[in-house]
Amino acid sequence: MTLQERDKKHLWHPLKQHKTHPESLAIVKAKGCILTDENGNEYIDTISSWYTCMFGHCNDFITSKVYEQMQTLDQVMFSDFTHKPAIELSENLIKILPNNQNRIFFNDNGSTAVEAGIKMALQYYFNLGEKRSTFIAFENGFHGDTFGAMSVSGLSVYNGPFEDFLMQVERISVPNGENHQEILEQLKKIVSENNVAGFIYEPLVQGAAGMKIHDTEGLNEILKFCKNHNILTIADEVMTGFGKTGRNFASDFIETKPDIICLSKALTGGLVPLAITSCTEKIYEAFLSNEMAKGFFHCHTYSGNPIACTAANATIQLLQTDEIQQNIKLISASHQQFKDKISKHPKVKTARFQGVIFALDLDTKMQRYGSLRDKLLNFFMKRGVFLRPLGNTIYIQPPFVITQEQLQKVYSTIEESLEIV
Ligand SMILES: *Cc1c(COP(=O)(O)O)cnc(C)c1O
Repeated sequence: MTLQERDKKHLWHPLKQHKTHPESLAIVKAKGCILTDENGNEYIDTISSWYTCMFGHCNDFITSKVYEQMQTLDQVMFSDFTHKPAIELSENLIKILPNNQNRIFFNDNGSTAVEAGIKMALQYYFNLGEKRSTFIAFENGFHGDTFGAMSVSGLSVYNGPFEDFLMQVERISVPNGENHQEILEQLKKIVSENNVAGFIYEPLVQGAAGMKIHDTEGLNEILKFCKNHNILTIADEVMTGFGKTGRNFASDFIETKPDIICLSKALTGGLVPLAITSCTEKIYEAFLSNEMAKGFFHCHTYSGNPIACTAANATIQLLQTDEIQQNIKLISASHQQFKDKISKHPKVKTARFQGVIFALDLDTKMQRYGSLRDKLLNFFMKRGVFLRPLGNTIYIQPPFVITQEQLQKVYSTIEESLEIV
């Protein structure tokens, strides 16, 4: 029996309607930018396995550091103990995060990083004796699948069964450079009618919405409004963090810095799960008290796992090398050329890029999980390119180590695919 056949007996995959889509492709190997399936077919991983392995799969530097760590200290409770990999990670992150950030809190995935950020904001006000219960978030944002994260997510097409159980959230439009006044009116109305604890946003690029890039000035105005109204700001950099936008963090493009930042995905270069919620010293101080209950009672068993922290330290070291910084610039320059070319195609509505993230919208109506999407996906896979359209958006976010040859193959495959649209 093939792996694909054995898979169907006991496994339940995420984001899948098993009745109409029973097959899952079995991958047996991944190295650099290449995935290999059980029949020996190879695919270029153009979305870095959900934006994680930006330094290539099974990166030798990261795996060797982790191998060493595995023989020294595997796991220890992070409630009463501490260790060097976590301490070093906090130091490494504080050096590269926006400089108002000073505290590092551990989680193990993007959703719980957001969940902890939401709870920090709520308890911050609770500890100060204020009851605040509302969050502000963007339309079409995505922040994860746990209840708090799901509540603030605006992409709720598939959240129907849970809608009655979500938190109080008010939505504002995404800044597009022209709707500034309208957003300010929305914000004023929201603060006059609610006790707002925080504003959560994906800075600069909305990932799951289809790599939608928004206006930095407009976002800055929103953040300034929040600061002036004592609303905590939470930057969900789970997707944008670690060099993908051309700078270490998307928040580096925006003048007003967030109070809380959520990180995951590329944090360990795709090797093992890990996430961080960082915050300012001011927030941390609101949890200091002689009362035990004012502390932050949110914990995951694997908090600060030494192996995951080691992978993250190696990743941050790689990110800062000249080679990687140079590659980011080269990929960006190639995206610019491809954008100029493909924008003229009659089937392309718009194209855009930011750092290594590139996206184009097809000039057609397409369902998020409909038949045209399946047709395109098959077209790409047959040509050895793993691409995963989101609605009518085709996007890529390749590993920083992708070669020019691989990148050009991805572009030309996208171009050919427009013929079947
Ligand atoms: C993926 C993602 C999340 C959720 O992370 P998980 O690790 O899948 O729970 C949250 N926010 C953003 C912006 C994401 O892209």
